[in-house]
Amino acid sequence: MEQTYIMIKPDGVARGLVGEIIKRFEQRGYQLAALELMNPTKQLLEEHYQDLKGKGFFAGLIEYMASGPVVGMVWVGKDVVKVGRKMLGETNPLASAAGTIRGDFCIEVGRNICHGSDSVESAQREIAMWFPRGVKVASRNTSLHALIYEN
Ligand code: UDP
Ligand code: MG
Repeated sequence: MEQTYIMIKPDGVARGLVGEIIKRFEQRGYQLAALELMNPTKQLLEEHYQDLKGKGFFAGLIEYMASGPVVGMVWVGKDVVKVGRKMLGETNPLASAAGTIRGDFCIEVGRNICHGSDSVESAQREIAMWFPRGVKVASRNTSLHALIYEN
């Protein structure tokens, strides 16, 4: 089963949106495989956002991301990378549809409360980086699985 890395950013944590964001993934039918409240170093954040080095907003992004604790999570399930991105909304909250996390809870791109991996490869890279001791997925609850999946 596919895995994705979802992170509630410092503004999302400080605004008390942890439960709301977890609730949406749980209610959709996805399975939580790892969760940690952490204070990431700037070095880890720079590695996480390595593709954006050189962008004008990079320094501000790192400051923002290092401004308080974040909640890192691994969610598991069918197409969870793509669906997770849909559930988050667009990078710019003003372009995000109502009903998405960013479309419901924030306004500005530099305060967009959550992160989601953009591909299966990014997810693998990010999960290895944020959960270096590895992620153990609980054994499948077959009756629950049958209520969520056809097979
Ligand atoms: N960001 C920003 N200004 C921009 C573009 C991005 O502050 O013009 C921030 C924003 O918080 C975004 C993060 O940088 O979530 C990473 O950018 P990316 O393009 O990867 O967007 P995402 O994958 O988070 O939707
Ligand atoms: Mg991204």
